[in-house]
Amino acid sequence: MLKNIRIVLVGTTHPGNIGAVARAMKNMCLAQLVLVQPRLFPSAEATARASGADDLLAHARVCGSLDEAVAGCRLVIGASARLRTVEWPQLDPRACAEKLLAECRCSGEVALIFGRENSGLSNTELDRCHYLVHIPANPEFSSLNLAQAVQILGYELHLTDTAQRQTTREVLPQRGEPVSAEVMESFFAHLEQTMEELRFSTPGQSQKLRRRLRRFFLRARPDRDEINILRGILSAAQDSKSKRRERGAE
Ligand code: SAH
Repeated sequence: MLKNIRIVLVGTTHPGNIGAVARAMKNMCLAQLVLVQPRLFPSAEATARASGADDLLAHARVCGSLDEAVAGCRLVIGASARLRTVEWPQLDPRACAEKLLAECRCSGEVALIFGRENSGLSNTELDRCHYLVHIPANPEFSSLNLAQAVQILGYELHLTDTAQRQTTREVLPQRGEPVSAEVMESFFAHLEQTMEELRFSTPGQSQKLRRRLRRFFLRARPDRDEINILRGILSAAQDSKSKRRERGAE
């Protein structure tokens, strides 16, 4: 199961941290490292800090965008050093491990994403996440070193995976697989476009509303049939709006 978990590092500045993350991952039986726009990679410093986990560095995938890094993933969780003010659903490290592993069992690839050393993940990047995970720490000094954050969340994954393999497998109710991140993104684009055409909202207006709707649909984890139904409703609303506009113009 751990092999299906992508550890995604966004905009890492120090190559040494990339090496230390590879080492922490290998210690915890994680294998997939994905780097989004690292400042410097590959690098001798990363290899030195990996201390024997350089096979993970050799297989690391470098991506130009977060969308590319999470393509094909049905569950995306972002690690955040801060408790955020906007209501992103939040998990503790153990619940995060349980969610990721349960998802791997029923549908495949998942991603756990980590931010930049100086500024973490942006709000737009957090918008890509179904949940946030926060490692409880000193509230006045809660930001861990990147590799240490990976170590702790990796340890929880390893513990949970080991415990689950020793117990009987959960039987999950039959349903379609949740759609991937890119299918959700094109649904959100369609939703926003329709809301503008219906004059429900104007471009750029109400980021709060947009975020609430994202949260709602991400929480529902729709499958392919459900997304098709929703998109069908959006297209029907667009058609009827444009027909009414034509009639008005006649
Ligand atoms: N200065 C940044 C923190 C950067 S630490 C900020 O305030 O956001 C680099 C990354 O390590 C973070 O983006 C996050 O992914 C992870 N991290 C650090 N401390 C963490 C914590 N307490 N809980 C969860 N993730 C943490």
